[in-house]
Order: sequence, then C-alpha cells, then structure tokens
Amino acid sequence: MKDAKLVAKSHTEHTTEIAIAPSDITVGGQDLFIVGGPCSIESMAQMEAIAQAPIAIQGVRGGVFKPRTSPYAFQGLGEMGLDILSAIRQRYGLPVVTEVMAIHQIETLLPHADVLQVGSRNMQNFDLLKALGEVNKPILLKRGLAATVSEFVMAAEYIASHGNPNIILCERGIRSFDSYTRNVLDLGAVVALKQITHLPVIVDPSHATGKRELVAPLAKAAIAAGADGLIIECHPNPDKSVSDARQTLSLEAMAELIDSLIPIAQAVGRSIRPQHSLKLVS
Ligand code: PEP
Ligand code: MN
Repeated sequence: MKDAKLVAKSHTEHTTEIAIAPSDITVGGQDLFIVGGPCSIESMAQMEAIAQAPIAIQGVRGGVFKPRTSPYAFQGLGEMGLDILSAIRQRYGLPVVTEVMAIHQIETLLPHADVLQVGSRNMQNFDLLKALGEVNKPILLKRGLAATVSEFVMAAEYIASHGNPNIILCERGIRSFDSYTRNVLDLGAVVALKQITHLPVIVDPSHATGKRELVAPLAKAAIAAGADGLIIECHPNPDKSVSDARQTLSLEAMAELIDSLIPIAQAVGRSIRPQHSLKLVS
C-alpha cells in the first residue's frame, strides 16, 4: 500500500485503539465492539425495545438518513429520528452509530451521534471524506460495493489526511456474480487490512449476506479471523422492518449470537463486555 502514509502500519505491533465517547468503550483493543440495531430508525418504541433487551452490545445503530436504491422507498425519518437517537443514548448510555450521506448533514448529526458511518455508496465521495476529516468524532467507513482493498485504504487516508485519525474500517461484502447472497463477505480483506493498516476493522455480516440465517455463522468466522467487532441489524419485529427485513435478526437471535461468540472471542484472545458494563465518562 505504497501511497498510504497515515493509515499504513509501520510495524507489526502498530495498532490504533479508538475511544467511543461518551462511554468508556474503545475499538481495537482487547474488547470486541459489537453494534446492533435496525437498518432504519422507525420509532422510540422500536429503539427502547432494543436498548432494554438482554443483549451485550456496546453501541446501537440505526439510520435516519437512508441511502435507498429506489427514490420511492422509505428514505429514513430524517431529523425526526435524531431525538430518538439522543434519548436512547441518554437513557441507556449506549453510544450511537448513524450514517451521514452528505456534507450538509454533518452539523445536524454531530450532537446526536457518537460515530458517523459512511455507507458503501459514499466510500469514494471524496468531498464528504475531506469534510469528515475535520470532525472530532470517530468515522465508521464501510467498504464500497465494488472497491478494492487499496481503494478502501486510500478512502481512509482521505479522512486521516484531513485531520481525523479516528477511523474504523468495516468490511460489508462486495458485489460478485452470485445473487444467492446479497454480497460476498471478503474475510481475506479483513485479515489484509489488519496487516497493512493500524486501524480497527469490523465486519457487517448483515449486508454481506442479505439473509438472516447466514449472519451468525459469518459473525463467528469474522471474529475468528481477527475482526475487532461487528455491526449487525436486529429489530424487535424483524419481519416488519421498513428496510432490510430479510437480513435482520430478532432480539432473541441477536442475544444468542453474542453468547455464541464468547468462546470464539476467548480462543483468539479477545473478550466481550457483559451488558450494562458501559460507563459514561462525560
Ligand atoms: C446500512 O448500514 O444500513 C447500509 C446501508 O449499509 P451499506 O452502506 O454497507 O450498504
Ligand atoms: Mn440496512
């Protein structure tokens, strides 16, 4: 990766641990960073159910600005969804991850989000990446639908070179010829990214597969391969999800999945924080 300067690994032990304010959670250390939540924020009741469920997540996800293939599909609750995110973060101390699609949304999102997600479709929106370089919060950068590892690393370099070193890479599957799965999870890229960059790398098995029955096995494989965490879609009534229902887990399945990860995490020298062990530090 000869062009990457700031995100390239300089020696084997060179890894970056990223703090997720306002909690005491970090990403890239011994503890895994597991984020769960719906594809789209739909209602306060939906998000309360997730926050109250017995699942050991360290962050909650949910889109309020949604990048949809069809302009006629639900586009997200927009600013109405932000109050829900803020309430969940305040009531439950759960860090919030949500997607930013455009530069003008950054200021609106900042007071409500702890991690800003750049979706696959925007991985090479260079103006957005430059603007996020000026933000003082971690960026979760998802791999583009058809981006090479090198293009992915250079997208991270854009953010870093504009001043923000707090970047979490996310492998979420890439397009291939087989439509049986929505995408193809590239675990080789996860290992490669850990070898060539010092950044934390997490995996999204939901968008990678598009099918809920494939999510848990691939989540386990990701942790075994050395991923620093997972971002997974779950919902109190998954079949009723307004977007991505087919890949969304029930809260029971999510709890079961996280339990099943514990021995795998231990086998690779990682750990999973129990529920309610998060502390707010500010
Ligand atoms: C999402 O996380 O809801 C999403 C749209 O993901 P991706 O950008 O990976 O398709
Ligand atoms: Mn989704």
